[in-house]
Amino acid sequence: MLTMKFGGTSVGDVPRLQEVAAIVKQFLDKQPVVVASAMSGVTNLLLDTSRRALERKSADVSHAVAVLRDKHLSIANALIPDDGRRAALIGEQQESIDELANLYRGVSLLRELTPRSLDAIASFGEILSCRQVAAILQANGIDAQFVDARTMIRTDDNFGEASIDFPYSNAAISRALGPLVRKGLVPVVTGFIASTADGITTTIGRSGSDYTGSVVGAAVDSEEIWIWTDVDGVMTADPRFVTGAKVLSEISYREAAEMSYFGAKVIHPKTMVPAIEKNIPIRIKNTFNPTHEGTLISAKPKSVARAARTVTSIDNLAIISIEGNGMIGVPGVSGRIFSALARAQVNVMMISQASSEHNVCFIVPQKDCQTGAKTLREEFSVDIAKKIIDDVLVKEPVSIVAVVGEGMIGAKGVAGKTFDAVAKADVNVIAIAQGSSELNISFVVEQQDARQTVQAVHDAFHL
Ligand code: ADP
Ligand code: ASP
Ligand code: MG
Repeated sequence: MLTMKFGGTSVGDVPRLQEVAAIVKQFLDKQPVVVASAMSGVTNLLLDTSRRALERKSADVSHAVAVLRDKHLSIANALIPDDGRRAALIGEQQESIDELANLYRGVSLLRELTPRSLDAIASFGEILSCRQVAAILQANGIDAQFVDARTMIRTDDNFGEASIDFPYSNAAISRALGPLVRKGLVPVVTGFIASTADGITTTIGRSGSDYTGSVVGAAVDSEEIWIWTDVDGVMTADPRFVTGAKVLSEISYREAAEMSYFGAKVIHPKTMVPAIEKNIPIRIKNTFNPTHEGTLISAKPKSVARAARTVTSIDNLAIISIEGNGMIGVPGVSGRIFSALARAQVNVMMISQASSEHNVCFIVPQKDCQTGAKTLREEFSVDIAKKIIDDVLVKEPVSIVAVVGEGMIGAKGVAGKTFDAVAKADVNVIAIAQGSSELNISFVVEQQDARQTVQAVHDAFHL
């Protein structure tokens, strides 16, 4: 089998959807399993509109619902020539959109918008999109069948970023999809969405359809997992911001995981996890340029590269630091910091501590920095009163810039070259971290400096 995930742009308009049908047709002999995202822009619109609903801006809500209706119905009108099939699809799409409008009404009436309702609302993007993809494939003579991932993928109830119950889901996926594929059908599975054991809708994190793709691909023992997107592959830096970014023909799972964790949006960081377990190669491909080889992500890429391979950055972060002479040599400070943050559900993305132990600093998402600082001031209130700790300081917005590459392991001079380039760009480095895996060097700069820093480091390594 070959699992193919199509992203938002790839299912985002009439020409792309025609290309999707052509691609699936081309690979029919490989027994494709399709996973797809919402049409591009739809998830954001669904979520933004729920906030409008909360504010009781009913005109905005009606307008957004009309936009969503038009967007999907115009696809049905353009791509499903058969009257009966088109009417059936339109009927189902209308029903979903009416249901969505009801949910928005509920949010307005109750003036309550919980993570659980956000997931229920967001799920419509993938439902509407995948139902129409299945119908378009059928209209192109392919025996496709829409599959709602909520019937197979089970998660916990951490709405917005739910964790997958793999033993249950793997069995359910292979039980549901195996027979379809053996009958010659092409399943079209909704990305991003899942459900709890009680059948409540969840989502597995923004951009999570890539992850669904690899979860499904691994569960059915696919030969490869292909992620179809809008660029030729994984590049040496984000092509939107860096001039001269180039496509990499191969990278390792670890490199892909590391760079996506540090902001390379091209693939969701968790995508590599199920693939690694079963050693299934992942290929990034471009629906706008399908004959391009793309990037192969595997355990052991053939071409061993120069030291650094990619430079990434991630914005909208904050740095929190705890300082105090009294902290030196006192056991348990770090333990208390990270336990308190974990209790407050604040995710720590990077940690740096100088050996003087006089300062511990770490990076959190900007949206969580006030909660984080408050939690720490409470945790250390006695220590602050006793002047063991001076203060909890917050600086925002900052960015992490990360230089990633397996070739950096054991290579000398990578850090020197990196910080030399940063200094020449006249950018101040706020904090630095390098894991002992040596796979990446990451450092913190003010957000306004991030773009030029990435460009400078990219240029320095001739990536
Ligand atoms: P999809 O909707 O197909 O999931 P995304 O927008 O999530 O697509 O991801 C693809 C985008 O990721 C590209 O258009 C590109 O702008 C961006 N991107 C960021 N960093 C990189 C990188 N290092 N290599 C390739 N693309 C990148
Ligand atoms: N539609 C979802 C999102 O925008 C999932 C995805 O596109 O991967 O986050
Ligand atoms: Mg994506």
